[in-house]
Amino acid sequence: MFKSNYVKKVFEEFELKNKNMPEYINAAKEILESIEPLFIDNKEYENLALLERFLEPERFVEFKVLWTDDSGKIRVNKGYRCQYNSALGPYKGGLRLHPTVNQSIIKFLALEQTLKNSLTTLPMGGAKGGSDFDPKGKSDTEIMRFCQSFMTELYKYIGPNVDVPAGDIGVGAREIGYLFGQYKRITNEFSGTLTGKGLTYGGSLARKEATGYGLCYYLSAALTKIKNDSFKDKIVVISGSGNVAIYANEKATSLGAKVVAMSDSNGYIYDEKGIDLAVVKRIKEQERGRISLYPKYLGRGEYFEGSSGIWSIKCDIALPCATQNELNLEDAKKLVSNGVIAVGEGANMPSSLDAIKYFVDNNVLFAPAKAANAGGVATSGLEMSQNSMRLSWSFQEVDEKLKSIMQNIFEASYNETLKYGKNKYDLLTGANIAGFKKVAEAMISQGI
Ligand code: NDP
Repeated sequence: MFKSNYVKKVFEEFELKNKNMPEYINAAKEILESIEPLFIDNKEYENLALLERFLEPERFVEFKVLWTDDSGKIRVNKGYRCQYNSALGPYKGGLRLHPTVNQSIIKFLALEQTLKNSLTTLPMGGAKGGSDFDPKGKSDTEIMRFCQSFMTELYKYIGPNVDVPAGDIGVGAREIGYLFGQYKRITNEFSGTLTGKGLTYGGSLARKEATGYGLCYYLSAALTKIKNDSFKDKIVVISGSGNVAIYANEKATSLGAKVVAMSDSNGYIYDEKGIDLAVVKRIKEQERGRISLYPKYLGRGEYFEGSSGIWSIKCDIALPCATQNELNLEDAKKLVSNGVIAVGEGANMPSSLDAIKYFVDNNVLFAPAKAANAGGVATSGLEMSQNSMRLSWSFQEVDEKLKSIMQNIFEASYNETLKYGKNKYDLLTGANIAGFKKVAEAMISQGI
């Protein structure tokens, strides 16, 4: 599997030490497979035990979260924060509230976040946290009591220059508000300790749009450089109809593309004339309804049950923006046989590893999540800057900075792709190497 004896040895030890953590092991394996050539080229990395040092989180905190439900019953959950690496700046990464959350998931996400944050070029280390608390079906006051109890423990480990958490699955504007309120109450300090805040108390304009817009900025840069092409007149299919999907649609359309399909977890809509985004926003953002309502509201377009059918639609560009593992090898084969030229991941890990390989082997421009959806965290980094300076930038200022960050992420990854990738479409290898190199250099400079 590994050509370098050093990488092989470190991975075997890592596997043994973390044997009950499959997600963490898989993530490390995928990263090591692409950064391995660096260790063949740089023998001093081995003398510095750089890989062993990188693969050990700097701090992992596990704590008890006690709260009472609306009937007065006492509930117990586990809380976690993994502060993976601070070589580049204060720890930064989201909080996830979901019953599947455990040590393995948190460590895997924190490792990925470290490389993603490095790619943004902003001074942010990598972290992730969360709880096995299930927010589904909980009342507003139950959510508030949980968030307050969670922060009562977490506040000991975070701070605007130490660790700045944000949202993730199950943590949106409401939860960030409750977490921020409790942090402020306990510490008697109003600071930018969390990002994703409301606009009235320190949030950044353009954060809502950032991941979807950023995805299109990254892909535009890649299309121009690698294929001398653009979004103009392209037929685009986007899975999902949540935050990332909606704003990817908005930006792709403004760049001249026609988005013909979107989906939710029940099914997908197809509109040959181009999706009317105002109708999707009304259904999803205002009414929190199902995408199946689209043909009824507009008198146009068709709805199909089952969301995976979306990948059989003929398109030039596919943007998986819904969820993990939503695009497998079979879907990749359908897209390629229908002539897809580019695939950009808005969601985290939407494509299976064999699907990614199939795209790259078939000369499809593949924009990996780690780089292509970094616009969200990049704008969180911009929120931190605005909070430190106690000022707010306009939407246009933030959007321009986002565009230039996404362009830089592409350039940095592409340079490494040309050196180390399987071919010029292998942007995943480029992203892993560019992200790791920066962290590695900072770690070396800072000593042990
Ligand atoms: P949302 O919850 O706003 O939207 C998710 C959308 O995906 C919903 O429309 C949901 O439908 C749909 N969906 C869920 N499962 C499926 C499925 N199996 N097939 C088709 N559609 C499905 O999430 P976001 O848009 O914020 O996030 C989407 C992805 O992007 C996630 O992987 C997230 O981790 C990632 N991401 C998000 C960032 C952000 O800034 N928001 C930043 C970086 C990554 P339904 O309404 O039926 O649930």
